[in-house]
Amino acid sequence: MTAKTSPAYIGRFAPTPSGHLHFGSLVAALASYLDARSVGGRWLVRMEDLDPPREEPGAQVAILKALESYGFEWDGDMVRQSDRHDAYAQVLNSLFNHGLAYACTCSRKQLEPYHGIYPGLCRNAGHDQQDAAIRLRVPELEYHFIDRVQGEYRQHLGRDVGDFVIRRRDGLYAYQLAVVLDDAWQGITDIVRGADLLDSTPRQLYLQELLGLRQPRYLHLPLITQPDGNKLGKSYRSPPLEAHQATPLLLRALRALGQNPGAELEHATPQELLKWGSAHWDATRIPRTLTLPEAQLL
Ligand code: GLU
Ligand code: ZN
Repeated sequence: MTAKTSPAYIGRFAPTPSGHLHFGSLVAALASYLDARSVGGRWLVRMEDLDPPREEPGAQVAILKALESYGFEWDGDMVRQSDRHDAYAQVLNSLFNHGLAYACTCSRKQLEPYHGIYPGLCRNAGHDQQDAAIRLRVPELEYHFIDRVQGEYRQHLGRDVGDFVIRRRDGLYAYQLAVVLDDAWQGITDIVRGADLLDSTPRQLYLQELLGLRQPRYLHLPLITQPDGNKLGKSYRSPPLEAHQATPLLLRALRALGQNPGAELEHATPQELLKWGSAHWDATRIPRTLTLPEAQLL
């Protein structure tokens, strides 16, 4: 028997079911898929359903259907974050019991003057967990990493972020905690996602360091934006991905990613486009920008 080695590449697409997939999500799904498949890697889908009140009914099914109709096949069973609460609770309690996280009872109103950077008011208050948000203490240090597309990114956790929430007052676990635990648990080696999460990455690096987890490689894609500069799907209701649009939208997403599908692919099936895409994938051609106006795409 040879020792089990972990696969060289495990990627993932991690949609939040607060709405349907739109063109911006297609770009993220496609890039993470092609980056994995082009090197024979695994590609997982994880449903980030941490926030039931913000979940749109039917969104989970619609997301999976859209992925299927666009030709995507994922490895293994899809994981839902709603099934992972025990794992999150265990780590959260351990951080709390070691004094690395603490309970915060500050109201939104109290924090208003601080513009989103928590000033540490409850750091040494010794509140218990009841009816409180749980915040992670951050060190007064700069964290940095080299992104495959965006290059070097630095952020001072104390100055630019402050102690951040890992469980909300209403008991819901925060994205930052869940994403780090799940990426590690699933053995993710490579994270390919939108540049709106670039400034979350240093928080995630700190959590990885704290918990002794391996740091994945990162590739943050330019965000597809509306003429008003907003991220697609946020303020503006961008249209859902329709099955009959799969070929033209996959071609458009490939071009947005700097790839060059030829005219002979104009009538290819989604599966053929994904196959072409993985055979010809060149991540160095992805535009090195934070945003990409949708109107500039073919
Ligand atoms: N669930 C997040 C989103 O839909 C993505 C998380 C991630 O890729 O790290 O924006
Ligand atoms: Zn507080």
